[in-house]
Amino acid sequence: MNLVIFGAPGSGKGTQSDKLIEKYGLHHISTGEVLRDHIARKTPIGQIAKTYISQGQLIPDSLMIRILEEIIDNEPKAKDGVILDGFPRTIPQAEALKRFFEKRGQEVHHVIGLEVPEDELIERMILRGKQTGRADDNLETIKNRLQVYHDSTRPLRDYYIKEGKYRPINGTGSIDDIFKEVAKAIDGEA
Ligand code: AMP
Repeated sequence: MNLVIFGAPGSGKGTQSDKLIEKYGLHHISTGEVLRDHIARKTPIGQIAKTYISQGQLIPDSLMIRILEEIIDNEPKAKDGVILDGFPRTIPQAEALKRFFEKRGQEVHHVIGLEVPEDELIERMILRGKQTGRADDNLETIKNRLQVYHDSTRPLRDYYIKEGKYRPINGTGSIDDIFKEVAKAIDGEA
C-alpha cells in the first residue's frame, strides 16, 4: 500500500506519519526532511535547496522528482509500500509519481488530506519554530509557504478527488482522535 499524506504546511503530516509508520509498517519518505538533511550535510542538492526553502518556495519539479524517484528505487523497504509526506506538491509532481508507480505495477492507494484552518496552521508553525528552531518556521516565510500552498499544492486536492483517492480528514483536535479518522479512511476502503 502506498499512501500520500497531504495538507498545508503545519497541518500535522509529520505527526500523523509517525503514527502511520507504527500501525502499518510503511516506509516513510518526507521530502522536507530529505532536503533538510542535504542542507545539514552541505551537499550540492543542499546548496540549491537552502535558497528555495529559506524563501518558502518550492524546489523545481525536475530536481524534486529526480530526488524522490532515486530514494524509492534505492530503498528496498519502499517496495512494500511508502508514506509520502510532502510529495507531491504540484500537479507535474503528481503526474510524474503516477507514471513512476505505473511503470512498477504500483499506484497511490489513498491520499490522506489533513484539513486545518489557516489561523491554526500559523499558530502551530510559530510554536514549532520556537520549539525546534526550524529555520523556515518564521512568520514571513510561513506566509510565503501558505501562499505557495494555495497556488501550487491545493489544486492537487481536486486532482486526487477526480482520481477517487482523496480522503478528507478534519485535522483539528487531539493527535489520537485525528489518527482514528485517518485509520478509518484507510481500513474502511482498503
Ligand atoms: P516540509 O518539511 O514538507 O514542510 O518542506 C519544507 C520545504 O522543503 C518546503 O517549503 C519546500 O521548500 C521544500 N519541499 C519539500 N517537499 C517539496 C516538494 N515535493 N516539492 C518542492 N519543494 C519541496
